[in-house]
Amino acid sequence: MQPDTIKKETSCMDDHDPASLPADVALKKIISAIEPVTSMEKVAIRTALGRILAEDIISTINVPSGTNSAMDGYAITSADIPSTGTAELKMMGTAYAGKPFPGKVSSGECVRIMTGAIMPSGSDTVVMQEHVEHRHGSIRIDTDTKAGANVRQAGEDVTKGDVVLGKGTTLTPADIGLIASLGLAEVNVSRRLRVAFFSTGDELKSIGQPLEDGQIYDSNRYTLYGMLARLGVEIIDMGVICDNRTALQNGFEQAAAKADVLITSGGVSVGEADYVKEILEKVGTVNFWKVAMKPGRPLAFGKINNTWFFGLPGNPVSVMVTFYQFVQPALLYLMGARHIEPFTFKVLCKSRLKKRSGRTEYQRGILGCDGSGQLVVEKTGGQGSGILSSMAQANCFIILPTDSGNVESGAIVDVQPFFGLV
Ligand code: AMP
Ligand code: MG
Repeated sequence: MQPDTIKKETSCMDDHDPASLPADVALKKIISAIEPVTSMEKVAIRTALGRILAEDIISTINVPSGTNSAMDGYAITSADIPSTGTAELKMMGTAYAGKPFPGKVSSGECVRIMTGAIMPSGSDTVVMQEHVEHRHGSIRIDTDTKAGANVRQAGEDVTKGDVVLGKGTTLTPADIGLIASLGLAEVNVSRRLRVAFFSTGDELKSIGQPLEDGQIYDSNRYTLYGMLARLGVEIIDMGVICDNRTALQNGFEQAAAKADVLITSGGVSVGEADYVKEILEKVGTVNFWKVAMKPGRPLAFGKINNTWFFGLPGNPVSVMVTFYQFVQPALLYLMGARHIEPFTFKVLCKSRLKKRSGRTEYQRGILGCDGSGQLVVEKTGGQGSGILSSMAQANCFIILPTDSGNVESGAIVDVQPFFGLV
């Protein structure tokens, strides 16, 4: 007689899997295993955009270098501001930005002054030009101007000796402008990481080749290229490697000879042709290979000689989620960055989200404003791990914690925006 049940193993559809690491533990394991690179290179500040500063930037000058006017107007001494009524001040000359007034402003006098011009000696206040009445060779002012108004003090932006930017800063447009304001042409940034990657799968075709039955175009290499290019690393694209132990082992060994980090996609699960974990065990060491997350549970992390290894799942959305949650923080950490984790904040969710407890989920969302200008998030359509168009539509991840079940519309959820003005 046949038994009426069969014994089932844990699968990728199960939400509880005791062998899977919680997502936060997996990231901590990665960070405690790796060490930032120590070598640096000197680059022109334009080239430094997006790179990680390898030294503190200490200012050797005051910015602005001299006390100057914040307005087009008249430089006066504050003692001349009347407490009632008006006062008349004689015009002594003009101060331009880059062309200071050579004389002094005494009581009863003023100097016409332009924005950015150095404050003439004796003056401490600027009356804006819209607030004066012109007389022949003089102006009249009233009680409206405050002592010290409309003046930018020397060093008010940056004071000589200040640490303007700290080691580990990811350089933004504001940062490179700030460095330029100190007169620096070059800065030391951590050296570029060499990151190799390849896709695995017998079904994969590269762009330009016709598709046969059951074949698909390799998209993961392009997604990975895009995500890596934004991090400013040196990219080593090793193409597609088929599901063959020898070919994979060769790929691993070639990458280990030239890259700081190897990233693969696919072949890391438990299918018959999934050899990635097996080869990693053979040529290197496996630190972990399963994370309690959705999408993306099979995620191998380990090392081949001195090369860090990330075996990402094959599904296109899983690749992006695991990259942003684990690989990007790891690469930033290797480059010495201070801020490595994605920016996360809470927002009102306008969709009902299906979720079972047991794994951290990274659903795809669209952040926007409702009719009253309040920030809200909605889910994109299909949430399957193969639906890459959901990533293209999304502008954020909605992160649902391990223990959470379904989320009702109107709940507050954590989001990580894909965009940021920096
Ligand atoms: P695997 O983890 O190798 O079993 O792959 C899981 C799913 O992702 C399969 O449906 C694969 O066809 C698909 N996949 C794997 N690699 C890629 C890739 N490079 N581009 C697009 N889809 C892929
Ligand atoms: Mg595969």
